[in-house]
Amino acid sequence: AAAGSERPGSTALALLGPAPGAPCCPHGPALLFVKTSQGTEEGRRFYACSACRDRKDCNFFQWEDEKVSEARLAAREEYNRSHQPCFTHRQNVDRYKNFVLLPLSKRRFCQECQQLLLPAEWKKHSDHQFLCDITTAQLKSPSQLLYPLENKKTNAQYLFTDRSCQFLLNLLTDLGFRRVLSVGTPRLHEMIQSKASQEEEFNVRSLLLDIDFRYSQFYTEDEFCHYNMFNHHFFGGEAARETCRKFLCEETGERVIMVTDPPFGGLVEALASSFKKLMTMWNETEKEGHDNREMPMFWIFPYFFESRILDFFPSFSMMDYQVDYDNHALYKHGKTGRRQSPVRIFTNLTPSMIVLPEEEGYRFCTVCQRYVSSGNQHCEICNSCTSKDGRRWKHCVLCKKCVKPSWFHCNNCKCCTLEKHSCEKSDSGCFVCGKAGHKRSACPSLSRS
Ligand code: SAH
Ligand code: ZN
Ligand code: ZN
Ligand code: ZN
Ligand code: ZN
Repeated sequence: AAAGSERPGSTALALLGPAPGAPCCPHGPALLFVKTSQGTEEGRRFYACSACRDRKDCNFFQWEDEKVSEARLAAREEYNRSHQPCFTHRQNVDRYKNFVLLPLSKRRFCQECQQLLLPAEWKKHSDHQFLCDITTAQLKSPSQLLYPLENKKTNAQYLFTDRSCQFLLNLLTDLGFRRVLSVGTPRLHEMIQSKASQEEEFNVRSLLLDIDFRYSQFYTEDEFCHYNMFNHHFFGGEAARETCRKFLCEETGERVIMVTDPPFGGLVEALASSFKKLMTMWNETEKEGHDNREMPMFWIFPYFFESRILDFFPSFSMMDYQVDYDNHALYKHGKTGRRQSPVRIFTNLTPSMIVLPEEEGYRFCTVCQRYVSSGNQHCEICNSCTSKDGRRWKHCVLCKKCVKPSWFHCNNCKCCTLEKHSCEKSDSGCFVCGKAGHKRSACPSLSRS
């Protein structure tokens, strides 16, 4: 499998990025990787699928210097063609039009094929499980109708709770945004779409970019683009790219924000590279440019990726708001006694503008000029609210920074870490800093000083 849990300390896979002229798999251009050992590149470079980190989902593999015969190229093209969805987006839009004309009693959805069925197709799906009497309300919330693709290594579809989704939507409308580029946020898109169709005065629009083609059954080409956020590939080609470009164009004065919630197993550098391309697309919609401004963005991701994200987007800051999910037992709201979610909002907007709900315990720190969670105490020595996980952190004078409450200063390792650890002995390095002795979750470098 290509990447996922790299460990710079031992052998790992490093992403060399989207390369011009890269070969294609059914998920668009492959990404170039290299094996690394102790942080140095080693061995042959190779291409692997950008979207699937599990070989079972896509086993595309090619050495960078490999000579591929004409016959194999032809076979590959044929394979890629045959692995595209059986209906085009256009066909799905037409099918939808016919579907809504049907009386309720004839509206069926095949759960096995995850597909709206027209009466002529019932026979073909006769031994499949299906839902009947699909209402207009159900068609307006496809994320409830479709089952979440939880496959960790590829789709990792974790849907926002209503609370989090509502919060995001209120936040961005309060900030004055009227257009949302929803990249891998089908539930946010759906909330915007259904509000817009129900409330006269609600004038926000959304364009969904997602790799989950099932959504093309419910949205037109102006509402959904089949898109791969790891290689910035529009499956619908130039027409789809143009749809996106048009959407980003703020000619009418409607301000755009991009909101994205990528799979957490994803390669941060690949995501960052795609998001920069989307930002460039936005920049190019304006003849005079946007005076060096960046397209406003919310990138929703776990707090332990903070330093990785800031590496690529130095203008971003992490907000304390805990985003939580319906189908993720671990990532639920802390207040209800369940575990706290590690997922945060990273944004290039001014932190003080991001108002977090006081009724959920967030408060405004006048020194830091941002909202912080209730447990996040302002440290006088660091002169900032230092907690990353919502718990109260403590200052270590030796490390000269605040650390997790459960940590102790180890004089052997010369840093704070879990009390139970083997000093520098463990041979498998940490995912984040590459050093031995701790795992990613306990990495001292995660608390940026
Ligand atoms: N919390 C969001 C869903 C996030 S789950 C919500 O409720 O709206 C991650 C999303 O990213 C899923 O919709 C998944 O289909 C999509 N996704 C996964 N891999 C992708 C890829 N390579 N390109 C684009 N979208 C992808
Ligand atoms: Zn079926
Ligand atoms: Zn503070
Ligand atoms: Zn401190
Ligand atoms: Zn310490």
